[in-house]
Amino acid sequence: MQLLKERILRDGKVKEGNVLKVDSFLNHRMDISLMQEIGKEFRRRFPQPEINKILTIEASGIGIAAIAAQYFNNADVVFAKKTKSKNLDGELYTVQVFSFTRGVPFEVEVSKKYLDQDDCVLIIDDFLANGQALKGLMEIVRQSGARLAGCGIVIEKGFQEGGKLLREQGVNLQSLAIVDSIDNGAITFRE
Ligand code: 5GP
Repeated sequence: MQLLKERILRDGKVKEGNVLKVDSFLNHRMDISLMQEIGKEFRRRFPQPEINKILTIEASGIGIAAIAAQYFNNADVVFAKKTKSKNLDGELYTVQVFSFTRGVPFEVEVSKKYLDQDDCVLIIDDFLANGQALKGLMEIVRQSGARLAGCGIVIEKGFQEGGKLLREQGVNLQSLAIVDSIDNGAITFRE
């Protein structure tokens, strides 16, 4: 997606540890016009009419998913909550996810009330690095018995293994910009 790539080149900041900061337009200050274009592009790539839920993870995925939902017939957005509590009552789908940015594992949960076997789910997230967040969200979909339509990512870091592993598993993964390298702060995209 050309508009997104241009914006990453203009406003993205490369930080230590291969972290790309896009918080001036995507996950702190949010450029709604750009996010609407992102939502339209997700719709173009996931045209399945049966998609009725968009699943994401707090916090950065929420704004992206909420705007994208408008292009999916106002599909419900469900976001996995990060929690420290244990799932004791069986009313939740729970998985453990290892955080790329913080380097620690954490639990995420989704209420069984909001996802079940009648749903067709598109997973959306801001970044894909090693694939832990997506794997956790896919596991929640599996537990719920819902159908997975695919996974939509705004920025994939193609030099980390997540995208390759998930594509090898046959996941319908669509990334709107794939960064192939960050060399001395210079960003190169996959064609
Ligand atoms: P993964 O689970 O694929 O290793 O990492 C994806 C998650 O880590 C995303 O939910 C995202 O919030 C965060 N993340 C990974 N890499 C980056 C990055 O370069 N920049 C930012 N802002 N977040 C990242």
